[in-house]
Amino acid sequence: MPEAPKSGPAKALDKLGLRRDIDLALHLPLRYEDETRLVPLAAARAGETVQLQGLVRENRIETRSRRQLILRLQDGHDELLLRFLHFYPAQQKAWAPGTLLRVRGELRDGFFGREMVHPAVRIVAEDTPLPDALTPVYPASAQLPQAYLRKVIASALRRAHLGELLPPGQVPTGLPALREAVLYLHHPPPGAPLAALEDRSHPAWQRLKFDELLAQQLSQALAREARAHLRAPVLQAGPDELPARLRAALPWGLTEAQDRVVQEIVADLGRTQPMNRLLQGDVGAGKTVVAALAAATTIAAGWQCALMAPTELLAEQHFRKLVQWLAPLGITTAWLTGSRRGKGRQAMLAQVESGEAQLIVGTQAMIQDGVAFARLGLAIVDEQHRFGVAQRLALRQAREGEAIEPHLLMMSATPIPRTLAMTYYADLDVSTIDTLPPGRTPIVTKVFADTRRPEVVARIRDEVAAGKQVYWVCPLIEESETLDLKNATETHAELSAVLPGVTVGLLHGRLAAADKAAVMALFASGEMAVLVATTVIEVGVDVPNASLMVIEHAERFGLAQLHQLRGRVGRGAVASACVLLYTAPLADAGKARLRAMVETTDGFEIARRDLDIRGPGEFLGARQSGDALLRFADLAEDDALLQRARQLAPTLLREHPAAAQAHVARWLGSKAEFLKA
Ligand code: ADP
Ligand code: MG
Repeated sequence: MPEAPKSGPAKALDKLGLRRDIDLALHLPLRYEDETRLVPLAAARAGETVQLQGLVRENRIETRSRRQLILRLQDGHDELLLRFLHFYPAQQKAWAPGTLLRVRGELRDGFFGREMVHPAVRIVAEDTPLPDALTPVYPASAQLPQAYLRKVIASALRRAHLGELLPPGQVPTGLPALREAVLYLHHPPPGAPLAALEDRSHPAWQRLKFDELLAQQLSQALAREARAHLRAPVLQAGPDELPARLRAALPWGLTEAQDRVVQEIVADLGRTQPMNRLLQGDVGAGKTVVAALAAATTIAAGWQCALMAPTELLAEQHFRKLVQWLAPLGITTAWLTGSRRGKGRQAMLAQVESGEAQLIVGTQAMIQDGVAFARLGLAIVDEQHRFGVAQRLALRQAREGEAIEPHLLMMSATPIPRTLAMTYYADLDVSTIDTLPPGRTPIVTKVFADTRRPEVVARIRDEVAAGKQVYWVCPLIEESETLDLKNATETHAELSAVLPGVTVGLLHGRLAAADKAAVMALFASGEMAVLVATTVIEVGVDVPNASLMVIEHAERFGLAQLHQLRGRVGRGAVASACVLLYTAPLADAGKARLRAMVETTDGFEIARRDLDIRGPGEFLGARQSGDALLRFADLAEDDALLQRARQLAPTLLREHPAAAQAHVARWLGSKAEFLKA
């Protein structure tokens, strides 16, 4: 029977991947509140967060400055004021004089004596017991309230199977059993060492981190083992064949970094095991030619190569560039996208199925509705972070039922530090292009208030007069495509008016694919000098003569997106600039993003700052949903535990395979699919 659709907090749990009892049991508190003790008011100091109990003596609403509810609470001979700026009439009624209240909050020295603002309040009796453990505070959200989480986790803890799976003597000495560690972390006893719990150095935390790292090591070993049983075609090319001829025909030589990654890829293609490799390189690093060489190697060996891009525009770019490079060598390229329908599509499909098409470029349409490759040897996925796991798997399984799997090459301009990459994607090899092609002049980035638009227009005029080209990117307006379009259309009209004699084009998501391609072709050929666009040009567009990028409402873009957009200029030898226009006032995060853009052009540094600015809070969703396999351990900090886990994993797999499987299932459960991609 299909599951009933979930709603409210249950849906939020599901979204975070908190589905099984064990998932909830492994959802650990961020911190704790100590409600186990009552502190007499006389013994409490200002600045401390304390819990105390007292009788309501007075209850009144004050309206002098801001309307607020004031309670006067008596504890022994001492008095405390409680202030509530937000309250319900029912609360005022319930907290009537004579009521005994248990309150918890930060004590302050106020103008009228000691006070607490918005403490947590509970009506109690003289003999209401105190809890015998600290109260957990879980990562919560508006959709997933704290009280609800406490309830479902407490009940999951009663059911979850937390028995020891590891053979005796294999857990690092000094660490508690898993059940003990989990229960302790959810409900530590009064007086537990809070500092060690908070910085996660406590043995209970160490145990969880160890188990998590072990699960990661095991899953990687399992994935590697599974891949070892797969067969892929051996793709090799002789010294005078296609790849060598392509290199000879290029107008420039490869950089050392490009050469190195090509060697890494070619070595993989020559093996009988399918390659599973990520090629990363900052925007403009020159990944396309590397892909072309991999394709040429594949085709030389008599197999087909497919290249999948996230948008039609980008696929079109690749198509043009690859055809320009490969057609003179006699390679037949097919073009498969969603907008290609009818006869043309049928003809392309026939070419793909017969094997006549040697290179197939397109969007994800190529893995939909029954495209059958005759001899797919290599699948390349550009900007792989844009695709889901499922799509990557589908591409790999495009020859389902066959004994042979294609090699897989993923490309990304969003840099992932090496250690992180290995935990994000199990069993992934990484090649990095770490230097840009020579002769690039660094992009100068300027931040201007929108009021300085006329200066920017003057600058555009200069660039165009010097034979250069300009992008003007309009922002997302509250994610509304219609408004987006209006904005871009208006800017297009405005620039056309103030730049007489200059060809200004307009590109947005609503244009038909053919029209988009036509606009791009005009811009690429230089006939169009200024291109006003929505973010459809974000990834991959390559026009080396473009020297100025103007981004309107830059404060609305994410840092990674700004970096991608800026990467559209500075792709040739011409000195390039990026102008970030903003509308005041700027929020702090917006300010920090713009500052980061001015201070660095290094994609790795940008990625690091992005994490800093967005903070772990925003990352939580993604992390919990399985994008990252490590929630607790920190590869830098927990190296000793990682080494132990690395040692133990092979032994466990060899000698206790069932325990190893159970351990992986416990930790990764629903994320198992993720491990394959
Ligand atoms: P990305 O890594 O962002 O996909 P591209 O492959 O689009 O980058 O390359 C960016 C630009 O650099 C293109 O115009 C490309 O032709 C050029 N390029 C690539 N490799 C070299 C090289 N070795 N020397 C000079 N220019 C190069
Ligand atoms: Mg690219």
